[in-house]
Amino acid sequence: MAAVVMDGKALAARMKEEVRLRVERMERKPGLAVVLVGEDPAALSYEAGKGRDCRQCGIYYDTFRLPGDTTRGELLDVIQLLNGREDIDGILLLLPLPGHLSQREAVLAIRPDKDVDCVHPANMGKLMMGTGSLRPCTPAGVMRLLEEYRIDPAGKRCVVVGRSNIVGKPQAMLLLQKHGTVTVCHTRTPDLGEECRRADILVCAAGRPGLITGDMVKEGAAVIDVSINQDGHGGLCGDVDYAAAVEKAAYITPVPGGVGPVTRSILMENTLSAALRHGKK
Ligand code: NAP
Repeated sequence: MAAVVMDGKALAARMKEEVRLRVERMERKPGLAVVLVGEDPAALSYEAGKGRDCRQCGIYYDTFRLPGDTTRGELLDVIQLLNGREDIDGILLLLPLPGHLSQREAVLAIRPDKDVDCVHPANMGKLMMGTGSLRPCTPAGVMRLLEEYRIDPAGKRCVVVGRSNIVGKPQAMLLLQKHGTVTVCHTRTPDLGEECRRADILVCAAGRPGLITGDMVKEGAAVIDVSINQDGHGGLCGDVDYAAAVEKAAYITPVPGGVGPVTRSILMENTLSAALRHGKK
């Protein structure tokens, strides 16, 4: 039997509506600032999407599109300015930065209580300890989708493909916190297929189209495809061979329309919760 397709779009719309209803009752609105360095078309369209989400939720939105030759000092000045602005509760710095800028230094400059994508080491540390309040958007989006479809990681074999700081590592931590038995795979994993075939919950975030073939999916698994790749025909695809996997899995996310929209709604939730912690009512 074909898998249940996990509808991230519908879930994301409900999450945004909940944020909108909460924000509507607030006298001082939450605010999000997005900082983008350079002219990458994908990043520009990503940034425009954040603006639309904020408008839908009633969240104040400001954007800083800085030229590709922005200096270290100019970037740090913008971050410091946003750190001090009371109308801004969340700062999202779009990564990667151009090569001449230090990502580490820029991330460290963001005030941790405004770090709505949970990239600051202080927030990553709290995530490790399970005490954080701001959640990393994409891994938290995956957890929200699992919860929506009542897929409980407790006691399950969870395999995460990818170990980036932004997706794979925090994803593994969140699954572990929900009592999954977690394996993290990467380019040095000797037999990726063997690891994946054991997974009750398979989270793919390698950014490699076609990496996960049908024979790597266990019958009845939940397959969560985080990756967003160009499919070579003007469209998008994930890492998973969807047509093959949908016949074996019990649950599967489409690309697009799976994890992506939920990630965006988590950003709205994080901005709201940062504003509440800043005393906005
Ligand atoms: P990344 O920094 O490039 O990390 C990719 C990870 O995948 C690395 O750990 C790499 O291993 C591993 N990997 C690559 N090829 C592999 C292979 N053949 N076998 C096993 N492991 C392999 O990427 P990222 O920032 O985590 O993003 C991953 C994907 O998610 C991208 O497609 C990105 O566009 C997408 N994404 C989606 C969302 C969303 O909201 N849906 C958000 C963020 C990112 P090594 O560490 O050994 O190199």
